[in-house]
Amino acid sequence: MKEKRARKVAVVTGGAAGIGQGFALRLARDGQIVAVGDLAPADETEQLIRKAGGEIFWEQCDVSDAGSVAQFVGSVTDRYGGVDILVHNAGIYPISSFEDTDWATWRRIMDVNLDSVFHLTKAVLPGMKEAGWGRIVIMASATFQLGSAGLVAYTASKGGVIGFVRSLAAEVGVSGITINAIAPGMVRTPGTIAGPQQQLGLFDAILTSQAVKRVGLPEDLMGAISFLTSNDAAFMTGQTLLVDGGLARA
Ligand code: NAD
Repeated sequence: MKEKRARKVAVVTGGAAGIGQGFALRLARDGQIVAVGDLAPADETEQLIRKAGGEIFWEQCDVSDAGSVAQFVGSVTDRYGGVDILVHNAGIYPISSFEDTDWATWRRIMDVNLDSVFHLTKAVLPGMKEAGWGRIVIMASATFQLGSAGLVAYTASKGGVIGFVRSLAAEVGVSGITINAIAPGMVRTPGTIAGPQQQLGLFDAILTSQAVKRVGLPEDLMGAISFLTSNDAAFMTGQTLLVDGGLARA
């Protein structure tokens, strides 16, 4: 077993914006060194973390590309000696009926949301096993419970995440590694604001089913990420934590 690092190193994918940016800032405030991998530049996240007195490294990374993931995780390992926490948050959620979903779109959603889980976990797991400690958290979605129209490929990809987490937990628990998923309902982020969600009236429609009668914000997910990446969560693994204002109540 390797000597444990005083400060944990947390990789956050998709940490340049939205929920991932919130996760990066929260983990930095929790005292972790944060490494953001995103297609987009993470300057804004860097500024927020530096202002909060935290440490951040970021590098461009396409989570759907095994080579890009290996390069990014290699850079983080060269710099800090390893990865203790993986928060795989990058994801895409195009809305279209199954009839209108072509093979290229299906493949892109699977590449970014699910195949990426394979690439990232493969890249960080050996180091976590050697260290005898690790936390992996992957973003799922309450759409898995809801089975909403227009999101067949997305829901299938997030169902894959939930299955992955359940099964891998059984293999890595012996090494002090936990793996869980967080399933938000609808959260106001750059991605959902730019998408058709507003036009389709989804922010309003969802409130009729949600127990908490307001739209979710990235801040609503921060307690969950802080807990699941902590020592306190050592006995929780293989789970998908719904943080959805009581939308799915599964
Ligand atoms: P967002 O679109 O606001 O931000 C996503 C970030 O991921 C961006 O910075 C983007 O550049 C990055 N990204 C996209 N593709 C990438 C790739 N191939 N490689 C690296 N980075 C990439 O998204 P968000 O709304 O904050 O959602 C974050 C996660 O939460 C996603 O996995 C999403 O499926 C999940 N989720 C979101 C909601 C919601 O309502 N916002 C609900 C349930 C689940």
